[in-house]
Amino acid sequence: MAGKTKFIFVTGGVLSSLGKGLASASIGALMESRGLKVSLVKLDPYINVDPGTMNPFQHGEVYVTDDGTETDLDLGHYERFVDVRLTADHNFTTGKIYHSVISKERQGVYLGGTVQVIPHITDEIKSCIKMTADGVDIVIVEIGGTIGDIESLPFLEAIRQFRFDVGRENVLYIHLTFVPYIVTAGELKTKPTQHSVKELRSIGIQPDIILCRTDRFLSPEIKAKIALFCNVSQDAVITAKDVDCIYEVPLVFQQEGLDDKILELLNIWTGAPHLDSWAELVAKFKNPTHSVRIAIVGKYTDLTESYKSLNEALHHGGVGNDARVELMFIDSSTLDEDNCASILAGAHGILVPGGFGSRGVEGKMLAIRHARENKIPFFGICLGMQLAVIEFARNVAGIKNANSSEFDPDTKSPLIFLMSEWFDDRTQTIQKRDCTSAKGASMRLGAYACRLDDCTDSYAYQAYGTDEISERHRHRFEFNNEYRKILEEKGLRLTGLSPKGDLVEIVEIADHPWFLGCQFHPEFKSRPMHPHPLFRDFIKAALAYKNAQDND
Ligand code: GLN
Repeated sequence: MAGKTKFIFVTGGVLSSLGKGLASASIGALMESRGLKVSLVKLDPYINVDPGTMNPFQHGEVYVTDDGTETDLDLGHYERFVDVRLTADHNFTTGKIYHSVISKERQGVYLGGTVQVIPHITDEIKSCIKMTADGVDIVIVEIGGTIGDIESLPFLEAIRQFRFDVGRENVLYIHLTFVPYIVTAGELKTKPTQHSVKELRSIGIQPDIILCRTDRFLSPEIKAKIALFCNVSQDAVITAKDVDCIYEVPLVFQQEGLDDKILELLNIWTGAPHLDSWAELVAKFKNPTHSVRIAIVGKYTDLTESYKSLNEALHHGGVGNDARVELMFIDSSTLDEDNCASILAGAHGILVPGGFGSRGVEGKMLAIRHARENKIPFFGICLGMQLAVIEFARNVAGIKNANSSEFDPDTKSPLIFLMSEWFDDRTQTIQKRDCTSAKGASMRLGAYACRLDDCTDSYAYQAYGTDEISERHRHRFEFNNEYRKILEEKGLRLTGLSPKGDLVEIVEIADHPWFLGCQFHPEFKSRPMHPHPLFRDFIKAALAYKNAQDND
């Protein structure tokens, strides 16, 4: 489609956790399936400049993009559903917007003027949205929070004005609400939707389409009622029915006619949608031949949102092996020498994910030792890789007090440490840091190249099948090169290195069916239609382990 970029704004009403991120991502997938070029932006009302410093318990996973931006987890959904590479320009918080306006004020950009929410903050928001439109047919902008929150008002005011700036025909407002089924009344209730739309209209936004999250398909009568009260046509009331598998959402929306309605209202002509690959994917998800159980030994185990991309990547790995992946979340602080084996019994693969701080690390190392000694497939990610190195140093190489300076800054054996100086091949600069470096600025963040060509018989090389890869990072500490020799002599293989060879990116143990730790986060790049090679091979090894056990 050549011509003006169109904008779709997605707001949410009634309550949070209705799946606005997934709805936005699914709309993106539907538009992409029509041959349109799509981009997505998330506007978050909180004041943190980015979610990097937020506890995953509160806000779920911190997703990292190639350019090293720490973003909201919804950007993960966007990249998994739509073929886009997002950047710092695709996630704005209130803090980031104010930061930019206040910096301009200090530089004298508004000299003589009184800086106000309207127009300065709203103009800043609008220019951030417009910035992403270059070469794109449709920009989908999701507004975080729920209608009625004080925090989101400047964003809503900005998107209200947006229609006047770029023309009525180029903007669409989609509102996601909740239609509960009340068992005692035996009825679906539309009142919360009516109230939410009323609230939205009171700030000047009339939604064009209403997505109704519900557990059953809405009848024509219910749709007619919502249409009447909310001032939209009946075919603009769409059922957003609960689904078993998130990748079904685009298909359900399509059945409800959402894509046709969007294209009609935005006056776009395209060919028919191509959704065969989505239908195939959902069929694979729902009817796998095999099943396998993976233990995730971590810290944020009571909140699966904290490991969103990881969970998805494991399921993608399952699809790649025609297997259902069952996840066992284990809080590492509950593991000790006595109960470790029984708690982990039944796992066909053990994964230790990324994390920060010392809580639960000894339990994670017990799990790693259990996997290493019992030849259970093991996958260590970031902190998981660092702990695998420490466990190996302590129990195989005999460095009894091996540790990370993250947990003990004065350790005599810092296997993992804060590298004071290293060459950053993305920025082509020498980076320096020490324990006084600011928390928000001392991490290795984003995509870095890694060479695999030194060991073509490694699990990593076999998985990727290529000499050089690029993966995303988010960590401060690194493998200490002083210990390379001794660990290698004892059987630890350093199978992935930075291009200059100074940073250890992947470690493996050869005498083991599949034991791999990586300093990066491969889960950020796994896609449902393209399972990540490491997750695919980890699940494959777990399946082989399970089969071998069954045959015993
Ligand atoms: N805490 C470790 C570090 O900063 C690992 C971080 C992670 O797992 N993302 O290096």
